[in-house]
Amino acid sequence: MDAKKILKAVHFAAQKHGSQKRKNKRELPYILHPVEAANILVEIGKIEDEVAVIAAILHDTLEDTETKPEEIEEIFGKEVLSVVQEVTDDKSLSKEERKRLQVETAPKKSLRAKQVKIADKISNIDSVIYDPPYYWTMERRLEYMQWSYDVVQGLLGCNLLLEDAFLKLYSDGMKILREK
Ligand code: ZN
Repeated sequence: MDAKKILKAVHFAAQKHGSQKRKNKRELPYILHPVEAANILVEIGKIEDEVAVIAAILHDTLEDTETKPEEIEEIFGKEVLSVVQEVTDDKSLSKEERKRLQVETAPKKSLRAKQVKIADKISNIDSVIYDPPYYWTMERRLEYMQWSYDVVQGLLGCNLLLEDAFLKLYSDGMKILREK
């Protein structure tokens, strides 16, 4: 992997996410999440595929910032853009419909998109278990866990290490949440 390109992606995503915050109590900077997802790919998944790692860093830019697909293509290339697009929800649809589509389309995604998606889900459920949005009820947290599990069922086969990490975190998390 080319450190310069990875750094360029981090800088790009950090600028695009700007002052966006995570929804947890501490209101951490949003950029922590995509950086965490990319780190999960490398550290846990042992993935050294530069396209997947850069796509993980950029994975929420199309969905949650003003970034245009052409910008990503111009700076990071067609392959990266296509993975980012695969993991981007269509925001013109209702939240319920988007969630349903994530479950339905997961098995049809490319290998890289599946890997990015599972790293994204690991990062997200980790937050929901240990540092959730302050206004979420327990019911909503459990529901989110279940939905993430359903999405990941469609991603199985893309990377055993990531799958194991997700399933372990999921079952630990369910135990912790149910004991509360
Ligand atoms: Zn994400």
